[in-house]
Amino acid sequence: MTSAPATPADHVTVRVPAKVNVQLAVGPPRPDGFHDLANVFLAVGLYDEVTATRAGGLELTCSGPDASLVPLDGSNLAARAAVRLAAHHNLRPDVRLHISKDIPVAGGMAGGSADAAGALLACDALWGTATPREELLAICAELGSDVPFPLVGGAALGEGRGERLTPLPVGGAFHWVFATADGGLSTPAVYREFDRLTGGRAPEPAPSAELLAALDAGDATALAAALSNDLQPAALSLRPSLRETLDAGTGAGALAALVSGSGPTCAFLAADADAAELIAKALAASGTCRTARVAASPARGAEVLP
Ligand code: ATP
Repeated sequence: MTSAPATPADHVTVRVPAKVNVQLAVGPPRPDGFHDLANVFLAVGLYDEVTATRAGGLELTCSGPDASLVPLDGSNLAARAAVRLAAHHNLRPDVRLHISKDIPVAGGMAGGSADAAGALLACDALWGTATPREELLAICAELGSDVPFPLVGGAALGEGRGERLTPLPVGGAFHWVFATADGGLSTPAVYREFDRLTGGRAPEPAPSAELLAALDAGDATALAAALSNDLQPAALSLRPSLRETLDAGTGAGALAALVSGSGPTCAFLAADADAAELIAKALAASGTCRTARVAASPARGAEVLP
């Protein structure tokens, strides 16, 4: 094992986006316990920043309103990404990682996965390892089903466990409001509830032609009509109060409302940026959520900041 080759920078910062699932079709449980998915990811303009700095060993810090909820040990997905990339190049994972966290934690917006993708890119630049894109994506897929997408950004169809990505065209900007909740929902618990509610007999998942056409056209009204999340009944079963949040957003003029991924964050599609601001204000005043944030999509994938 060797030290990383010297590069001019002593630190690298990567900005990496959150996602919303505009379609999440979930199949029955597979023998390995995972579920086949037709998962249409859309990157949204809420970002974490991961800074990698030269250090004598692996260190991890986190800042931001939800920082106390982020584990700072070896279970952190960003730390696991650094260890995995170092092993790939037969290097020691000597790096200090700092996560500046703006993506809600355990909110169904893949914040931990975003941090893993960000850490991979930041360490690769810091260590000068120039890992080919395909190898980075393969490492992402090993780290978790949701990790490849934040590296790529934009919109993509995820198949298999969600990790086999096909980029999708997006014909215009979409404007969202995200209402965060107090406390997270455990993704495995939501899948267990999904299996209980469907009796393990969900149909095979398939992407919606209407949804892909709406994305391609940049048509918010058509996208609103096609949004779907098979995990929503399970998330609502575990957290019935989310129904009030969804109703508050549609009552304030959202074109559509849905639980984001495994929840508990709720996503609201707005007609335009002004409508999104109004819906966010109404949600914040409704007392049915912790915060309401606006964000536009599609957002770019992980990128090194100058
Ligand atoms: P997904 O949408 O992919 O299901 P999520 O958005 O619901 O994920 P995360 O924010 O990724 O949830 O966090 C899920 C759990 O992962 C957290 O409760 C935390 O214990 C753990 N975790 C590990 N690494 C991180 C990280 N870098 N940031 C946030 N949580 C992390």
